[in-house]
Amino acid sequence: MKKELWMMTAAIPLCIVPAKAQFNTVATIPARYKVEVLRTDMNNAGATLENEAPVQGASTDILASADIDKKRWIDRYLSVSYPLRHIRINSPYGYRKDPFTGKKRFHGGLDLHARGDEVLAMMEGVVVKVGQDKASGKYVILRHGKYTVSYCHLSKILAVKGAAVRPRDVVGITGSTGRSTGEHLHITCKLDGKSVNPSVILDYIQSVRQECVEALAGL
Ligand SMILES: [Zn+2]
Repeated sequence: MKKELWMMTAAIPLCIVPAKAQFNTVATIPARYKVEVLRTDMNNAGATLENEAPVQGASTDILASADIDKKRWIDRYLSVSYPLRHIRINSPYGYRKDPFTGKKRFHGGLDLHARGDEVLAMMEGVVVKVGQDKASGKYVILRHGKYTVSYCHLSKILAVKGAAVRPRDVVGITGSTGRSTGEHLHITCKLDGKSVNPSVILDYIQSVRQECVEALAGL
């Protein structure tokens, strides 16, 4: 069973490796980053396999091993969360017609449809900053490894600077504060201080979940 899990891990589709590699690189910073912890466990499991004699344990051992595998995949599934319970993209990252001026302007974030919704932390991390300004309205900035994510135009801030967050922790309520034509959640993402498309994180979340669902189905 252990070996099967190891093989399955090795067979993760190549298409999701780049995003995963990026997050692995960043994941060493928050100590409680579950994805990293899981991968470490798996690496250890692989190393153990080479040294261990073939498993000839009783069925209870096999059952226990299956339970451990199941728990690992469930934990990994739960290590990520979409920022809203329902994801609908209103406006993507990149150049667009500015809703205020009508002129072509770079949109440095991703707009998600929202109506008084709870805004969730996407993975483990820390609250870097909370505040309010004319452009972003009420905002919360979270750090996940080398990535920082900001949630803007909130009606309510439910996070405190310096606090640790776990995936699915509610950090605010969506709204339309600041430079906003209507309620939505504006998400920005920075890697090493440089703006990147937040859909990188959404894609990563999707790939982790898909991987876990497939692994659990095969156990
Ligand atoms: Zn926006």
